[in-house]
Amino acid sequence: MSLVLHVDGDRWRAHLRHVAEERPGLVPVVKGNGYGFGNGRLARRTAWLAGLGPGGDTLAVGTYAEIDDVATRFDGDIVVLAPWRPWAGGGSEHSADPRVIHTVGRLGDLAALSDAPGRPRVVLERLTSMKRHGLTARGLREAVAEAHGVRLEGVSIHLPLDRGDNLAEAEELMTDVVAAGLGERDERAATVWVSHLRADDLAALAAQYPDFTFRPRIGTELWLGDRGALRVTARVLDAHPVERGEQFGYRGRVLPRTGTLLVVSGGTAHGIGLEAPTGEGSVRARAVTLARGGLDALGLARSPFTVAGKPRYFAEPPHMQASMLFLPSGAEVPAVGDEVDVRVRFTTTTFDAVEIS
Ligand SMILES: *Cc1c(COP(=O)(O)O)cnc(C)c1O
Repeated sequence: MSLVLHVDGDRWRAHLRHVAEERPGLVPVVKGNGYGFGNGRLARRTAWLAGLGPGGDTLAVGTYAEIDDVATRFDGDIVVLAPWRPWAGGGSEHSADPRVIHTVGRLGDLAALSDAPGRPRVVLERLTSMKRHGLTARGLREAVAEAHGVRLEGVSIHLPLDRGDNLAEAEELMTDVVAAGLGERDERAATVWVSHLRADDLAALAAQYPDFTFRPRIGTELWLGDRGALRVTARVLDAHPVERGEQFGYRGRVLPRTGTLLVVSGGTAHGIGLEAPTGEGSVRARAVTLARGGLDALGLARSPFTVAGKPRYFAEPPHMQASMLFLPSGAEVPAVGDEVDVRVRFTTTTFDAVEIS
């Protein structure tokens, strides 16, 4: 066991602070596996950010099921990004919770929430080019006109990952927001919750629409934006010399090479090996590989583990909590207990421990 996320605490906290200062009104997104850190830890970190002043009075979770993990560690408002639906979050203990802000993207759901007890807090979602959830321009106008039994907290705009034209799309959608009359209601309603807008685009939008408050929702760029502050390691658990043709592994596999089987911590339960091996896809690349007689020509897949300075191949598919790597003879064999670096996708990795210095 032991796949560990090491965090350079000073550097990470400085980055969080920088993002918060650069994006006034920041709403940290705390969802899924907590971007590798865990949602509870990120909720506490959001409370810390709020204490510093620049942002973090509100955080966003992905689903209703995630509320409990953050609610006790952070005392501000909680936006649920998944749209409210009658079967998810609706009518439940959360509908009139004064800390919870619901996202609504269908007129029928708005009507249902309006009939719920109390005055649920509601953000109306406008459909974007993402075409995931939300109201059309006309639907938004109708929703604003009909939003009586709820407290309107603004409009949500979820843009795709920025390809350079998100500001243009945001400006276009703002026309609908203005036309829907949101700016004419109370100050709270004149709030626009946006994602995937760069700091300069956000500033441009805020300057163009001074009567609106913009709340940038950020996850990846906040928590994972300074990769240099993060390092992931596994441990060498065992090393066994293996002769060419000698059987090993769950499937009695053999390799026409002599080398070392290196057993390291980290397997499918951690999310290791779920990504397709990179490269060597084209026919030409494959031909070059075959000519070189590389390990991928033997059908081995590249692993995310780096040993003795090089990315290494899986000797066989990763196990649940450990992986077997193949080190060709001549490669320096690390000692049992040594740490090796691992490249991971943070949003799909479950770490055994997160160590923040
Ligand atoms: C996940 C999510 C975000 C945050 O996305 P990142 O790319 O991690 O910053 C923002 N808004 C919505 C609606 C989301 O679902």
